[in-house]
Formats: sequence, C-alpha cells, structure tokens
Amino acid sequence: MAAYDFEGHITDIPDYPEKGVVFKDITTLLKEPEGFHAAIDAIADHFKDAGVTKVVGAEARGFLIGAPVAYRLGAGFVPARKPGKLPREVRTESYELEYGTDELQIHVDALDEDDVVLIIDDLVATGGTAVAQAKLVSQYGCKLAGMGFLMELEFLHPREAIAKETDVDVFALVQVK
Ligand code: 5GP
Repeated sequence: MAAYDFEGHITDIPDYPEKGVVFKDITTLLKEPEGFHAAIDAIADHFKDAGVTKVVGAEARGFLIGAPVAYRLGAGFVPARKPGKLPREVRTESYELEYGTDELQIHVDALDEDDVVLIIDDLVATGGTAVAQAKLVSQYGCKLAGMGFLMELEFLHPREAIAKETDVDVFALVQVK
C-alpha cells in the first residue's frame, strides 16, 4: 500500500492570521477518515514502547491530535489550557510569543511523579508552546517520554529550542524545510 500523502492534505493559507504568515490548515487532513486515522496511528505507533501513561495536549488543536493518540496508547489525556479555563487549582507556565507572553495551565492533580508523559500538538513552529508544556510537566517531577507533532516547520528550528530544555525524542509526521 502506498504511504498516505499527509503533506498533500494539509492546506497552505497565505497571509493568515496576518500578512506574511503562511498558515498550515490541518482541517483538510482531519476531515479525511483515511488521513486522520493514518496520522493518529503513525504518531501513536512511534511512541508505542515508551510506556506513556499520560498525553498532554495544548488548547486547541493539540486536543484534536493528543486525545486520539492517548486513546490509541491506552494513556490518559491532560488538557493544557489558556489562563482561566480550568475550573480547579492549576500549575502555570509562561512563554514568549512574537509580541508579548502567554500562559498555559494544567490542573494541579493532573500528573503524578510516576507518570510518563507524551506532549502532542498539531504543529511545532518556534517550539515555544512545546517548551512551555515541557516546563509545566517538569513541575510535577515526572518523566517526559517525548513530543509528537503532525507537522514540524523545520525552517524555524524548533528542535534547537526544545533541545535547550530537554533531550527527549521529538517526532514529526511531516517536516517542512
Ligand atoms: P510554536 O509555539 O511552536 O511557535 O507554535 C506552535 C503552536 O502554534 C501550536 O500549538 C500550533 O497549534 C500553533 N500554530 C502555529 N502556527 C501554526 C500553523 O501554521 N498551523 C497550525 N495548524 N497551527 C499553528
């Protein structure tokens, strides 16, 4: 069977959300049953022997990929959310955006010391969101097993940013040079 053309099903949207940015729209992949299933299976398969107990996924597209990967791995799913969205006590990590800063939070009881965590998102660009999640996870003293993405924008060098924080296995289904 021919390999599924994941990149061919992700759509370039020029000048979105602002002029000069080419946004990668993954909804054109997710709506295809074969593409969606193959993508989730491939990411989960890469981490199948990592002993993952919890997948952390960031609002909002990280939920779309992280939750099915968690299900496939037999792991739990932990949402990382923007401030004020989670109803109970949280732990917080700030991270730099192009202009200003943002924060991600997870519930204080979402992870235990003996958890093995996998961070999943749809896309890694600068790596800032992934690094913030890695720092959040490290607040719990548990093991980070890896990071998995549908797409990596290699030209923004996210692996270098991630390597400054952690030496975990980073996997991306599609790499854009
Ligand atoms: P980073 O923090 O690595 O610079 O950006 C990655 C985060 O921003 C991810 O949570 C991802 O969902 C979002 N993101 C940034 N650019 C894009 C894009 O072109 N397409 C999609 N689907 N998400 C993006």
